[in-house]
Formats: sequence, structure tokens, C-alpha cells
Amino acid sequence: MRIALLSDIHSNLEALRAVLDSLPSVDRILCLGDIVGYGADPAQVIDLLRERGAEALQGNHDWAVVTGDTAEFNPLAARAVEWTRSVLDRGPVDFLRRLPRTLEVEGCDALAVHGSPLDPLFEYVTGAGAARGCFGATSRSLILLGHSHIAMRFALREGRVEGRAFPEGGAETLGPRTILNPGSVGQPRDGNPRASFGLLAEGRFEIRRVEYDVAGAARKIREAGLPEFLAERLFFGM
Ligand code: ZN
Repeated sequence: MRIALLSDIHSNLEALRAVLDSLPSVDRILCLGDIVGYGADPAQVIDLLRERGAEALQGNHDWAVVTGDTAEFNPLAARAVEWTRSVLDRGPVDFLRRLPRTLEVEGCDALAVHGSPLDPLFEYVTGAGAARGCFGATSRSLILLGHSHIAMRFALREGRVEGRAFPEGGAETLGPRTILNPGSVGQPRDGNPRASFGLLAEGRFEIRRVEYDVAGAARKIREAGLPEFLAERLFFGM
């Protein structure tokens, strides 16, 4: 079973296309949430994922677009949520509404969520403390998550939690307990503007980074009247 892991696409059609074009042959495409928010092509991104038969989880931005509740969001993110609500028809909103928040991935003893097993929508897993909480919350050997937009893994070995980031990509053999974040397709925040995604097969994972038309995605964000910073940050991966 070969699985492509995509997360935090955030309505960035250019980045999603580049990732899908670069995929080797896979059995499943799994999207770990935040399909929409920030970028200018929410409907097109949802359509393309459905066309490719991707399975998807609900992220906090997807949830906010469904509910209109932006209490947990900063002003720029909230504006993007409101804009997304204003341009999406009912069909794609219903698609976002029906997305599950957790998914057991058969065949690789994995639990997939957007944020964390303890708080699938909102918790960020970027340090050893949060990672330890995740390991304690499930007996699955592998936890797949996104949300932080940083490609990294945590391994639990003899009671110690070790983290490693993959700003330039890389590959590793899976240990007995691993948390894997494939990074963000549409808005990387680890200083590398290239789209990030993961591949999972036969006890190994790989993080890959691919170039995409950042200028094109940024231009659409500006043309949509979304906040300038949401265009600017794509050039720097922040
Ligand atoms: Zn996100």
C-alpha cells in the first residue's frame, strides 16, 4: 500500500496541481485537512481532490468555513474564512461539512487527524510535550497529522521523544511509534516556499518538496482582494 499524504492545501490550486503532477503511482491520496482558507481557489481545489478520489479529513479552516465561527482565528485568517464562505456554493460547503475529523488508516496501523488525537481541529503538535500527549492518546503505531505547516516527525524511543524537521525533504524508516506531519502543500511555514507532501510505503516515509507557480497563486490572492500578507508569505514559506 502506497499512500500520498497531503495537508494544509489552503485553496492553493497551483501548489496542489504541482504536487499531484509530481506524485508517483499511489494507491491512496489522503488529505489531512485545511483544504480551504487563505488562498483564492477553494472550489477548484475541492473539485480537483474529488476528481482524484482523495480521502480527506476536516481541518479547523474547513470547519470555520462550514460554521462561520472564527473566534479562534487571527484577523487575516478570519477574513479569508469569510471570503471563502462568500464564494463557495452549497455543494462544496456540504462536502467540507461531511468530512470526518479522525480516520483509522487500515494496513499501516495509523490514526489520521488534522491537529492532534486529543484535539483534532485545533491543537498544534510542534514540540515534545504535545507529541507525548499524542502518543498517550492512541495505541496506533503511527499518527498522521498536519496543522502546523511544518514537515516533521516525532519518534518515541525507550520513553524519549525525538523530533526532526524536513525543510528540504528526506526519508526515514518508521519506528515503533511515530508522529508524521507531511508539511503544507499550499502555505509552507518552515522557510522553504516549495510545496511539501509525504509518501508512505512499506514501513518507510518520505517528505518531498516541489516547486510551483508561487507568483500565480499570489496574484490570484491579490486579485480576490484577500489580505496582501497572504500573498506575500508564499514567496518566503512563512
Ligand atoms: Zn492549515
